[in-house]
Amino acid sequence: MMKRIGVFVCHCGINIAETVDVKRVAEEIQKLPGVVYTQDYIYMCSDPGQSLVREKIKEEKLDAVIIAACSPNLHESTFRKAAEEAGLNPWQCEIANIREQCSWIHKNREKATSKAIKIVGTIVEKSRLNESLEPITVSIKKKALVIGGGIAGIQAALDIADSGYKVILVEKDSSIGGHMAQLSETFPTLDCSQCILTPKMVAAGKHPNIELMTYSEIEDVSGYVGNFNVKIRRKASFVDWSKCTGCGLCMEKCPAKVPSKFDRGLSTHGAVYVPFPQAVPNKPVIDKENCIYFKTGKCRLCEKVCEINAIDFEQEDQLIEEEIGAIILATGYETLPLTRLAGYGSGEVPDVIDGLAFERLLSASGPTTGEVKRPSDGKVPKEIVFVQCAGSRDPERYMPYCSKICCMYTTKHALLYKHRVHDGQPYIFYIDIRTAGKGYEEFYVNAEEDEGIIYLRGKVARIFRDGDKTVVWGTDTLSGRNIEIAADLVVLATAVVPNESTAELVKKLRIQTGPNGFLSEAHPKLRPVESINSGFFLAGAAQGPKDIPETVAQASAAACKVISMFSRDHLEQDPAIAWVDEDLCSGCRICISVCPYDAREYDEEKEIVTVNEALCVGCGSCVAACSCGATQQRNLTDSQIKSMLTASLGGK
Ligand SMILES: Cc1cc2nc3c(=O)[nH]c(=O)nc-3n(C[C@H](O)[C@H](O)[C@H](O)COP(=O)(O)OP(=O)(O)OC[C@H]3O[C@@H](n4cnc5c(N)ncnc54)[C@H](O)[C@@H]3O)c2cc1C
Repeated sequence: MMKRIGVFVCHCGINIAETVDVKRVAEEIQKLPGVVYTQDYIYMCSDPGQSLVREKIKEEKLDAVIIAACSPNLHESTFRKAAEEAGLNPWQCEIANIREQCSWIHKNREKATSKAIKIVGTIVEKSRLNESLEPITVSIKKKALVIGGGIAGIQAALDIADSGYKVILVEKDSSIGGHMAQLSETFPTLDCSQCILTPKMVAAGKHPNIELMTYSEIEDVSGYVGNFNVKIRRKASFVDWSKCTGCGLCMEKCPAKVPSKFDRGLSTHGAVYVPFPQAVPNKPVIDKENCIYFKTGKCRLCEKVCEINAIDFEQEDQLIEEEIGAIILATGYETLPLTRLAGYGSGEVPDVIDGLAFERLLSASGPTTGEVKRPSDGKVPKEIVFVQCAGSRDPERYMPYCSKICCMYTTKHALLYKHRVHDGQPYIFYIDIRTAGKGYEEFYVNAEEDEGIIYLRGKVARIFRDGDKTVVWGTDTLSGRNIEIAADLVVLATAVVPNESTAELVKKLRIQTGPNGFLSEAHPKLRPVESINSGFFLAGAAQGPKDIPETVAQASAAACKVISMFSRDHLEQDPAIAWVDEDLCSGCRICISVCPYDAREYDEEKEIVTVNEALCVGCGSCVAACSCGATQQRNLTDSQIKSMLTASLGGK
């Protein structure tokens, strides 16, 4: 018996209706066999729109409905829910995308309307052969993994732990804190960064539901949403932390001198070290590459002075396996290395530093205890040039995007410099000043009007050393003059880029990144804290440049998603995935090699390849690769695709 099909055409305000004649689409589609009802409406996703769909399903005894509207990414689940409420199996509801794939990309109304009719017509053909499906249910391990212990990871871990669920917080460095621990004061309130961060670090370190795994990295992740198997490598620290009291004697006696990564090379520490005094956990590690004993076979001074025998040169990496339900990625950012900026001294001019190094100079716990002194000779700089967009908004040579936080932190830098060096003169080269955030514009206006900072609109062409000065050549585009400043110190607001470990991590997790390497969200507006891969959530600057308030908000949002997932007994997954006709499968295993989700498994006994339903996301790679047609996708079978193609070719 032919299905009774209803088609609902959305105007999407003027988004669709301006380019597509929606009434004509409805009229033409009504002529197709089996289409018993069509209707257009201004906002089909609104309450009256959804009510209309529900009512007509009942009144017209519809067996299938098609909503011709925006991308299924946006509202497929909305309409499937509405269909289900009216008693229809949700997989009998289809979306025909006539917005992103039609009205948004065409201008000619006539052609766009014909294309919309074809798109809807093909979906009508598909829906004739759609089966009614039931969701796949999977159990959930109610333990979360947070990767990255910056403010994003700390906040997310605390929120989940406070809700009563267990969390493992994995940080690759020996302490949590991330970049926020390096900052002096924070815009726009000028709160001391340590004062707002360290209590949270302590809380995370002590929380009964949080297991801190610092100096650790993810080795491998397998499984699927609700049921991940995670291998974590705990790197050898060569210090037995269960014995170490953190007395610091080993660090005091270590004769090695290693540039401090935390202080951006502006100070040194021994080969056995904690990165900063407020570290959590406050336990040292031995840097094998720089340890004199590991390099020469002689020294072991740290071992000699440690009265409780906590130094353990024989310690090895440990592999720890955990079962996890959800994963939050909070791996943060780095800044573009100075060595990449050829015109700005390539990192070889000692008095050209980056913003994070300047934070360390401003910090009370930094190498100069908060006195601004330049690296070359320790003199207090009387003229500082701050250069914004160093590597940002420069698609030809560097990063095309705006790094978002630099306008604000450069103003903060200039302001704090003036507070420390009253007779000092800060100059800021900028392209545009962007101050979108609560209290941000006021912060900038106050700095510009009342603090004696000179803002110069224009790009800096070259920076070079001349005697004990650092010369900056730039242009002031407002006055049209070329500018030369012989500065005592230059601070570059270098582009924010993803943490260098992100690329390797995403390969292990098989999750997506955007063109600039930041983690991709499932939907930029409606699902900004979820990855497209189920069970992975995003927090902080790993997703894109962000300031602290935005990072914290996103971390809490990601935590909420995890908590909401853990509040259920099981998860439901889309059943429109691959399946195998066992009689047709030759066991060639091509599908195993093409599956990006490891969802195909060889069954030795049956000599065929099966589908792990929990892992399959219905991407269709295996279906396309299967040469004998044994693998099919539910509700997108070869027969359905053929009938859709025939319809799109006008029935030929
Ligand atoms: C110069 C400068 C000044 C700034 N000043 C301000 C300010 O005044 N106010 C403000 O609001 N914002 C400021 N910011 C922005 C602020 O630093 C960020 O918003 C914040 O640090 C982002 O936190 P996060 O946790 O996302 O990332 P991060 O701080 O980068 O933390 C990420 C953590 O993840 C860890 N990690 C990375 N990869 C892995 C891995 N594979 N496995 C395990 N761990 C991993 C890292 O070691 C790190 O600890 C400033 C930024 C800069 C550059």
